[in-house]
Amino acid sequence: MIVQAEGIVLKTFDFRETSRIATFFTKEYGKVKGVLKGIRKDHKKFGSNIDQFSVNDIVYYTHRNSDLHLISQCDLKAFFFPIRKDMKRTLAASYSLELIDSIMPVEEQNKDIYRLLLYYLNTLEHIGDINKLVHVFQIKILLLSGFRPFLDSCVVCQKKITPRMRFSMKLGGLICEDCRSNDHSATMISRGTIASLVHIERSSWDKALRLKLNSITKRELKYILNNFLIFHLERYIKAAKYLK
Ligand SMILES: [Zn+2]
Repeated sequence: MIVQAEGIVLKTFDFRETSRIATFFTKEYGKVKGVLKGIRKDHKKFGSNIDQFSVNDIVYYTHRNSDLHLISQCDLKAFFFPIRKDMKRTLAASYSLELIDSIMPVEEQNKDIYRLLLYYLNTLEHIGDINKLVHVFQIKILLLSGFRPFLDSCVVCQKKITPRMRFSMKLGGLICEDCRSNDHSATMISRGTIASLVHIERSSWDKALRLKLNSITKRELKYILNNFLIFHLERYIKAAKYLK
């Protein structure tokens, strides 16, 4: 079967003498893996160099017994040059790709996450506060992929939020003073940070990015989001080093 799709390049690696295998996150079919035969021998064979995080229109033949398909056409649609000129922006882009690659199963469509990644890359071209953008992306992707932390009350006893809540990576949400013995490694979280997390979850992308974050909230968000994602993905995301 011949399939057309629009996809963002998550990763590539060289294959045999002249080919390359690429993983795309496509709007229509989710994560798709394909081989581009001869791309390293004939650079004009495809209308794209399949650089990481570029957007491409692709055409491929599906393989009956494997999830590795044969890509016959690949044309560059967006390159995000301002991201590539800047090391910090490039690392932030790579981080989002690794996150999506770890979270998304093969060939499972998720248009909301596709749209989120496109928004993120478009905004990353020009935004001043890159860390805030990364945090908004992390919070939205947790929500859209079903990994949302529990922030409504204490995750153990369901008691309302008090000024002395902690965040438990292990239990996946807030715990109160009385339930501390359930996770001694739970970290302090201020009410301001809880409110910011909930606000970002509920707001549109643009509105979420306009939220002002104080230095305590910035510090807490960085610690909690990075560690929560690492804990729940059970996988160390190398590019997350940039956030530390
Ligand atoms: Zn409790």
